[in-house]
Amino acid sequence: MVKTTESESRNLLMRLREAMAGDDAGQARLDKITQLIADSMQSEVCSVYLFRDDETLELCATQGLNVESVHQTRMRIGEGLVGHVARYGKVINTPDAPNAKGFRYMPETGEERFSSFLGVPIQRLGEMLGVLVVQSKEGREFSSDAVYALEVVAMVIAEMTELGAFVGEGAALSPLHQQPVLLRGTIAQEGAVEGHVWLHEPRVVVTNPIADDPHRELERLHEAVEELRVGVDKMLEVTQTGDKEQLQVLEAYRMFANSKGWMRRMEEDIGRGLSAEAAVEKEQSQARARMGQVQDAYLRERLSDLDDLSNRLLRILTGQGSETGAELPEDPVLIARNIGPGELLEYGRNLRGIVLEEGSVGSHAAIIARALAIPLVVHTKRITTEALNGDHIMVDGEQGVVHLRPDDTVVSAFRDKIAMQAKAQERYASIRDKQALTRDGRRVHLLMNAGLMADLPSLENSGAEGVGLFRTELQFLVRNQMPKRSELVALYQRVLDAAGGKRVVFRTLDIGSDKVLPYMKPTDEPNPALGWRAIRVGLDKPGVMRMQLQALIRAANGRPLTVMFPFVAQFEEFRDAKAEVEKTLERERRLGHALPEKLEVGAMLETPSLAFAPQKFFDEVEFLSIGGNDLKQFFFAADRENERVRKRYDTLNVSYLSFIAQIVERCEKSGTPLSFCGEDAGRPIEAVCLAAMGLRVLSMRPASVGPVKSLLMRVDLNDIRKIITDARHRGEQTVRPAVMQYLREL
Ligand code: PEP
Ligand code: MG
Repeated sequence: MVKTTESESRNLLMRLREAMAGDDAGQARLDKITQLIADSMQSEVCSVYLFRDDETLELCATQGLNVESVHQTRMRIGEGLVGHVARYGKVINTPDAPNAKGFRYMPETGEERFSSFLGVPIQRLGEMLGVLVVQSKEGREFSSDAVYALEVVAMVIAEMTELGAFVGEGAALSPLHQQPVLLRGTIAQEGAVEGHVWLHEPRVVVTNPIADDPHRELERLHEAVEELRVGVDKMLEVTQTGDKEQLQVLEAYRMFANSKGWMRRMEEDIGRGLSAEAAVEKEQSQARARMGQVQDAYLRERLSDLDDLSNRLLRILTGQGSETGAELPEDPVLIARNIGPGELLEYGRNLRGIVLEEGSVGSHAAIIARALAIPLVVHTKRITTEALNGDHIMVDGEQGVVHLRPDDTVVSAFRDKIAMQAKAQERYASIRDKQALTRDGRRVHLLMNAGLMADLPSLENSGAEGVGLFRTELQFLVRNQMPKRSELVALYQRVLDAAGGKRVVFRTLDIGSDKVLPYMKPTDEPNPALGWRAIRVGLDKPGVMRMQLQALIRAANGRPLTVMFPFVAQFEEFRDAKAEVEKTLERERRLGHALPEKLEVGAMLETPSLAFAPQKFFDEVEFLSIGGNDLKQFFFAADRENERVRKRYDTLNVSYLSFIAQIVERCEKSGTPLSFCGEDAGRPIEAVCLAAMGLRVLSMRPASVGPVKSLLMRVDLNDIRKIITDARHRGEQTVRPAVMQYLREL
């Protein structure tokens, strides 16, 4: 068995560092490294395979295999033993490689002469860069010490690769993070934009993976861990009375920060020659690789806690805070794993575009991006590992494609696309003051959704006839503390002033689910979308609702006022809420405040149950607005934030459209004014189908008013209604293909 002691490991790393310090070109460095490793591990062969592209590994340097095969031998990920290591991020250690499962013979390398094989992944923070292999003729198994030593070396090679040590003249590989990359995601907000990358959480850069003095490094590690522990304890003290979930995370942090196993591994890494930060990163990389394999949600969460904790530790060790000194570019495109609505609002309109590695189309962060008309692509794998601050980036929100560091041809094609978009905007501007009149002479009223002061100028620019949904919670989400009543009065007053007499439908606070106010004690719910949210909170804890109603009445100051309650699931909830309005009116009257000249009180229809409410509800409610985002999620029992299930059900599904038609019919019978204010109202094809089902008022993000109007003006709603009915009779699940066909033929 081959053994490698700590001091041998350290020795090897020192020699590697010398090799790196020389002024050799990239390839020569890599050649020298393989030679040093083979020597040190007493193996005939050492080879480095690196990714050429996402799918292909290339032999980039070797000591012991045929030199001619360098840069010639390639394999796909998953292919052969090397491909296996790369795919699963797992070590393969076998004394009899030719008979091992998955072995693939590469005649040009001459490797059939070698029996034993040890391959370890070269990876950095979840990014697989390649595979490091040692082989020897003698059929022996490598000791766990030897495996460890090779992992440490692989870690150093990964760092060097990241730092660009193997590029340049005689390049062993193309430089990382400099090549053009095309990434695909899911469209969450359309629009094509060009800008420069701004990382929400910049990566820590480790420039010194190898250290001379393990004692000093151990000291540094211990000091940093101590600082980390003190920090976590402090956070725990402050949170003790607060959010249970946050407390759980912090408890997990504390557990890891005190974890002997974690410490021991990092100490061993240092013993073998790594610097303190490289040791932290090595453990972090391995935890991330495990994260990719683990199915259990609880374990994944814990690994992600460890990841977070490692980041904190790295920041302490390197002194690199989240403030890296980088300046926000003039045209920032935000890159993040995920982002909450509050954080996004802090960036506000400064952003040109947003690309998320996770995220979801139905989330409130996505709604905010839409409200701000910022193109957004979600579910874009690898974006956080590929993009560097300041990279040139083009986001195609129409196709869900992201071009990172695009080459000249892409740039020019993309700029043409942006120009075409601008032309379309001109076309929409030309119909801005026209009514949305269909070919069969039906008038559809187009309103806009808003929630921020910044939205209001759009009322003028978009041609919207009013604000069909003002999401009041956005103002609560952007603050660190509960706004005062006087602040709300001033705010709503400005909204009404800006609307200049156009109707504004103020929806009362819709919090809960993913809209968590930072200053309100959160509740621990197994299923927040079905939980204590919106009007349920408003009725159970009426203080805030009363304050909001008072603020609205005072802001109106005698002008007409429209109030809408969110998420009403049964008649009684509406009745109770309406009673609160009456009480507030009475109180305000007694206090001598002017009462609105006209007050309309309506409800959102967001749960299927409300469509079946008693007739009395339809008679009493002054208007209804279908919140399609929630209604659709409850109709199909498919979480609006879960991309996997959300996409299964088309809005143009015949059952859903029939349900909408039933609601329209009930409202027509009882003379209840009805509108639709979910995101689907702003999608032109969906909008024309909703109009065909009988909806005459659609409320959407301002940027959609033009495209929706333009399409409505070209269609005959009778035709579309017939297409929908025919498709239903044919038993089709969705009417989309049939409607698209009709639209193409227009
Ligand atoms: C809806 O559910 O469609 C809606 C408009 O409300 P929100 O998206 O804010 O939940
Ligand atoms: Mg809703």
